[in-house]
Order: sequence, then structure tokens, then C-alpha cells
Amino acid sequence: MLNDDECIHHKDEDRMNNEFDNLELMEKDVHSSYHTLKRGKNMVTIKCPKCGYVFNRARRNTHLVKKKSHMTFYSKKCIGKFSFHTKKLNIKDRIKIGRESIIREYIG
Ligand SMILES: [Zn+2]
Repeated sequence: MLNDDECIHHKDEDRMNNEFDNLELMEKDVHSSYHTLKRGKNMVTIKCPKCGYVFNRARRNTHLVKKKSHMTFYSKKCIGKFSFHTKKLNIKDRIKIGRESIIREYIG
């Protein structure tokens, strides 16, 4: 039996694979931080390419994950103000601005 603060970790991350070799007893705290680390950096600090405001955002909501966009702005207002300028920028420049706007990625 498991204690309340324990759980079974599946080493190959396949919950259906209950082979003895695939199972490991872990404390719940350790278990959740293990998976967070494994998932990697899920937060990003960005400097808005338009207004320069520094903000944090979940990585999945940034251009690092959303393949259609090359930049992430602080607000919709910033996107609007930037867009006329953006039309004159080629893809390479957009990607460069997007990359330079990333201050850090971290686990949050
Ligand atoms: Zn902005």
C-alpha cells in the first residue's frame, strides 16, 4: 500500500506499462518536480518589441511555441502599433526581433 505522500512513477512515462521494472516508488513532491523539470522551461520573460515592457508569459503562449508568429507582444495595443512597421520587415528580421526579445526561459 502507498502512503498519502507517495505515488508510483512510470519510468517510461507510459501509465499502462505496469511491468515491475518500469515502476518506481516516489514521494509526490519529488514526483511532480521531476516531471516539471523533465518538461523543461515552461515560462518566458520577454521584452515587448514595441513598448519595451518586460513581462512573463507561459511559454506555450509565445512565439517560441506558436509557429505562426515570430514575436510576442505585451498587449494587443502593442501588436496594433507595431503591425504597420512589421509589414516592411522581412521574415529574417522578424525572427531576429523575436529572438532578441527573449530575456530568459525558466521553470515556473
Ligand atoms: Zn508592448
